[in-house]
Amino acid sequence: MRIKARIVRQLAMDQRAFGGFETTEYEVTTDTHTKRVVDNKKYSHYYPRSHFPTRVNSMVRFSVKALAVSIGAGLLISMGSVSADGTVNVYSYRQPFLIKPIFDVFTRETGIEVNTVFAKTGLVERLVEEGDNSPADLIFTVDIGRLDGAVQAGVTQSVQSDVLDSNIPAEFRDPDGQWFGLTNRARLIVTSKDRMEEGAIETYEDLAKPEYAGKISTRSGKHQYMTALIASVIAHTDETQAEEWLRGVKANLARKPQGNDRAQVKAISEGQCDIAIINSYYMGAMMSDEEQSSWADSVRIVFPNQNDRGTHMNISGMSLTQAAPNKDNAIKLMEFLSGDLAQRMYAEQNHEYPVNKDIAPSGLVQSWGEFKYDPLPLAEIARHRVTATKMVDKIDYDG
Ligand code: FE
Repeated sequence: MRIKARIVRQLAMDQRAFGGFETTEYEVTTDTHTKRVVDNKKYSHYYPRSHFPTRVNSMVRFSVKALAVSIGAGLLISMGSVSADGTVNVYSYRQPFLIKPIFDVFTRETGIEVNTVFAKTGLVERLVEEGDNSPADLIFTVDIGRLDGAVQAGVTQSVQSDVLDSNIPAEFRDPDGQWFGLTNRARLIVTSKDRMEEGAIETYEDLAKPEYAGKISTRSGKHQYMTALIASVIAHTDETQAEEWLRGVKANLARKPQGNDRAQVKAISEGQCDIAIINSYYMGAMMSDEEQSSWADSVRIVFPNQNDRGTHMNISGMSLTQAAPNKDNAIKLMEFLSGDLAQRMYAEQNHEYPVNKDIAPSGLVQSWGEFKYDPLPLAEIARHRVTATKMVDKIDYDG
């Protein structure tokens, strides 16, 4: 089945309850029908904090339910309708337009409602604060750094699932089941079509060559995408060689690290630099954007390190929370998200690579060609995060 989701409208929602987030109206189109998956009922899924069933409430309901057993089956059935059965609660750093359509298909297939809190920051802190009383079952985020951070904060628990283990390659999940990748993004090098020879840059290591002085731009070295890339260089070499490499990259910068990944491509299109490092899905996003497609057109995609270790990959992913009041439903959702249908939807919506290798990327992403990716487990790369962050400070990469 072919599935497409189209954003219709974005809305700012209750700022007080959540500290600021957005939700999105969208249409889901399949081979057989189109559905506008937004109505008042759907909006009610964005519960203010006080509306989320808390663990304490669940326990209260449980004892009322037990009482109901003693006084009659009829009452028990009516209590069942207000229990937490049939729901799963998600805290998400991923944007609504990416995951709401997929959650809605899950609800249609299973009858399990998905309540979601979207936020840009603070969800791990909130899980820590809520502790065992947290209503959240799952946390969704991007980057191995944030997933590892959630594990370090003690807010996740291990999941053992044959479905997840067979759908998700071992390098993109935690060996202990604390986190699982859902999508892949390649950390690309892009070079100016006008000012750089094709094939001039082939590896991350090439970025440190003196001949590229004044040509490179990147976002802050402290950003999680850069931390993971630096950590992967440490993992493949050692701290000394990685530091030498990073000093070389810094020496070649055209300007102080600034802006996001797309801003680097814009800078190339404007002639401020010739080489940048960006996540792959931003190329898809820029190509699909009227204003930004000229930025994307100005660069050529390089999949680094094809003749040795392969291109550095990162993930968006999910973890089961430590509290997880609806654990069984949460694991059902996790398994669904790793399956064919959800993976296809992810691939189409954000130009990311499906983590499930049975599923092909979007047509646009396929047009960039196949490539070899670095199979070193992300769990291994995550072990070098702290060293990578310290290295960025030590050499004053952003200064
Ligand atoms: Fe991003």
